[in-house]
Amino acid sequence: MLFFPGLLPTGKIDSQLLTIRDGFVNMYVLKASTKLICIDTGWRSKHMLREFNTLQLDIQEVAAVFLTHLHWDHARCTGIFPNAEIYVSEKTITSFSNRKPRSKRPWIQVQDDQQISVSGLQVRFINTPGHTADSVSFLVGGKLLFTGDCLRLCEGEALPFYSCFNKVNTLLAGSARRLANLKGVESLLTAHTGITNNTDRAFAKWREHATAKKRSVTR
Ligand SMILES: [Zn+2]
Repeated sequence: MLFFPGLLPTGKIDSQLLTIRDGFVNMYVLKASTKLICIDTGWRSKHMLREFNTLQLDIQEVAAVFLTHLHWDHARCTGIFPNAEIYVSEKTITSFSNRKPRSKRPWIQVQDDQQISVSGLQVRFINTPGHTADSVSFLVGGKLLFTGDCLRLCEGEALPFYSCFNKVNTLLAGSARRLANLKGVESLLTAHTGITNNTDRAFAKWREHATAKKRSVTR
């Protein structure tokens, strides 16, 4: 079994946000006004259904599932949500058509920077390639940033995900800088290494880097 530090136990994070741990990965459930939204799906259907029951969440109420990328630990359980639309990056179908997980519903491809509204909650797509070419992060409600496997947290700092798992390592720094410079982010939520509300600390180095670069250009 792979080990990642900072994994969260299944449970409530706050009144609107919950997480389910499926072995070595966390997926997230958000409560919108009348519906539920999922970020990724976990990988063991029976386990996921059991955890939904434990949390007293009705899987029928999941209206949308947003996939950060298609690795099996994030995307294998799309088939357990009977009423959900499945949203993926615009880049997903072409680059990963042979790995499309089972799902009863057609997928919806979304462009970079596009916003989807589900039951009053806004989900913004931010392409963050590096871990995979089609990896995407989600900014929800303008303040919760779900990074999938773009970033990992190490003692409160956001670092690129472990290089041995990444397809295009060279793109990750640019993706991290893009996320670091988003305005209004209050929480950073990863898939394998927990969450932090101290986004200034998490992103400090990426912002410094951008500022130093700007300074050297203007000199
Ligand atoms: Zn992955």
